[in-house]
Amino acid sequence: MQSRGAYRTASGLPHVDRARLQTALLTLGEIGRNPETGGVNRTAFSAADMEARRWFITQLEAAGLEVRIDPIANIIATLPGTDPDRSPLVIGSHLDSVPEGGRFDGALGLMIALELVHAFRDLNISLAHPLEVVSFSDEEGGLLGSRGWIGTITEADLARSYSGRTLRQVLQDLGLDPARTSQAQRAPGEIAAYLEVHIEQGRVLERENLQIGVIEGIVALDEYEITVTGVANHAGTTRMADRQDPMAAAARMITLVREEVYRLGGNLVATVGKMEVEPGAPNIIPSVVRFTVDIRDPSRLVLEQALRDLHDHFDSIAREEGVQVAWRTLAQIPPAPADPAVMQAILDAVAWYGYPHRVMPSGAGHDAQSIAAIAPMGMIFAPSVGGLSHTPAEFTRFEDAAASANVLLQTLLLLDERLP
Ligand SMILES: [Zn+2]
Repeated sequence: MQSRGAYRTASGLPHVDRARLQTALLTLGEIGRNPETGGVNRTAFSAADMEARRWFITQLEAAGLEVRIDPIANIIATLPGTDPDRSPLVIGSHLDSVPEGGRFDGALGLMIALELVHAFRDLNISLAHPLEVVSFSDEEGGLLGSRGWIGTITEADLARSYSGRTLRQVLQDLGLDPARTSQAQRAPGEIAAYLEVHIEQGRVLERENLQIGVIEGIVALDEYEITVTGVANHAGTTRMADRQDPMAAAARMITLVREEVYRLGGNLVATVGKMEVEPGAPNIIPSVVRFTVDIRDPSRLVLEQALRDLHDHFDSIAREEGVQVAWRTLAQIPPAPADPAVMQAILDAVAWYGYPHRVMPSGAGHDAQSIAAIAPMGMIFAPSVGGLSHTPAEFTRFEDAAASANVLLQTLLLLDERLP
């Protein structure tokens, strides 16, 4: 690998225009903003999301990019490269939000992409590779647009409802043919590298007083439904020793999930987020208790170790309590590691600026996770104040946003030289 130095201007390392980036973020943040709560409501394909899409297209065109809408409604803007034979470098994120979300989730990555196009022009930089800026459709509802790029859109996706309209209708209203979503697919090797800046949505960076997170990969995620079956009986007349109480067993199991995670340590996290009790009355020992386990780790091996332990422990608790336990798999999502060369380019760029940083996994899913299946992927995290996200209080300091933009700028220049 070549060891090109940092790109410098006459006055040193280049910096993006922080004020311009801030204005773009705040302007986009007004679209779909609830004046009472400050929450951003741009759920996918809502009126506000459509307004944001139109606004973004105007901004991209004003910046001199050629904009097209692909068959799954992703917005793709291209800055031509000086070498027509190169495959594109792609930077992306999403405009849609959760209900009552914040101004930075998704928006940060796209406003930085826009700022970089301006910065390249200001600095008179041209890349050999074409640069694509992509706003992926419906990230929050399940990575729709990026799944379109890897060809995993299903009939169920097309039938899904977006505030009363099916995706099929949504696409038709946009002048797209729902029968042709497979044509959104990008071939493996067609993209030189995919990069995404995103807010951390956690507190690791803030706790350690860091400005940049260099993502080593997006975690593997499993979800299970555990059904514990006992014997329903009278809460007053059944002596304690005679009970086969699935609630008592489930309580022990749930406590154990947390103990196991602490014991294994590292990046492992697990959550019991949902519980159902049958028949569900104050004066009946339940017959059935169902709860979910969401468990995540960057390493599939660690995840499997934890699951083996949980299986064993749940079995012994079930024996002791005289109940049955059964597992049902709800989801198993493989980890998406960052590409080592892309990660190295990000680390080199961070080192030049001297921003305090760390390598870390992403515990949340992102479009980058889909794209990792077809292209070398890298992600950069900016700190979230208080670790807050998916709330009106979501905030990232503009100096941190600008720092991640500077890192992305140098990373693109490095990859432009290092990648064929
Ligand atoms: Zn996001």
